[in-house]
Amino acid sequence: MDNTGLPHLDVIRLGHRIDRDKRITSHLGLTARALGADSIVVFGDEDPGLIQSLDDVVERFGGSFSASFGKSPIKYLRSFKSGSGKFKPGTVVHLTMYGEDYRETFPKIRRDRPIAFVVGGTKVPGELFSIADYNVSVGNQPHSEVAALAIALNEWHKSVATKGKFFNPQIEILPSERGKSIIERE
Ligand code: SAM
Repeated sequence: MDNTGLPHLDVIRLGHRIDRDKRITSHLGLTARALGADSIVVFGDEDPGLIQSLDDVVERFGGSFSASFGKSPIKYLRSFKSGSGKFKPGTVVHLTMYGEDYRETFPKIRRDRPIAFVVGGTKVPGELFSIADYNVSVGNQPHSEVAALAIALNEWHKSVATKGKFFNPQIEILPSERGKSIIERE
């Protein structure tokens, strides 16, 4: 649980390629944080600049979102499921265009356990389809991991308040009809 009382929510990004995916993986991290995830774990090429840029956003905009690299996604997910890592046993949701409709699947998923949303890049390992507790689609057409994650997290949290996750910010943006309303703290 975090300060909002919600179980831990991990985003797992597979197959990061340092030369091609810098921007999209960075957008995945930003989207994950902004839509209520607690962490992103990136698998593929190690890219310290990516982690640094996400850490900088957390420092400026608040909260405790963490970004890190992992070595073996399959091992990580097995341990996430069994609870042998740092969390209690969790649920793995694989976002894939081959899966079942997210609107039908989400109501069946337990909300009292840690949850990991997994997105791919290039081809995902076939084993993932059997490790995942749920293979979930956001429509059955190919699109983007950022779009799939954004829609899935929006549906998952629905009316759950995730605002409390962004505590202690240096910069806070207040919704405004026109222009920019920003509070800056030291
Ligand atoms: N050919 C790849 C595949 O096997 O799914 C598509 C790669 S797509 C560019 C990258 C990632 O976006 C996928 O691994 C998946 O996580 C996500 N994605 C793309 N379309 C999706 C959809 N319709 N529903 C859910 N996730 C999707």
